[in-house]
Amino acid sequence: MEFNKCTRCGSFYVSTGDVCPKCITKDNLELGTFQNYVQENGLNNSLESVSNQTGISIKNLNRFISYGGFNND
Ligand SMILES: [Zn+2]
Repeated sequence: MEFNKCTRCGSFYVSTGDVCPKCITKDNLELGTFQNYVQENGLNNSLESVSNQTGISIKNLNRFISYGGFNND
């Protein structure tokens, strides 16, 4: 059995993924928000600016970007 530490709230949990079951709904919501933002605006703006516009923390933005599938050209 492997314990993961939630990147959002710091709780330990037994599951796969980067966030605990309590946070996964919000995390998926924010990932969707970010994907929509990238589709409309691309990734040309600074993360600070994206964070201000989407309400998603820079830490979480970096994690979403690390999941891949975003064109940063
Ligand atoms: Zn959590």
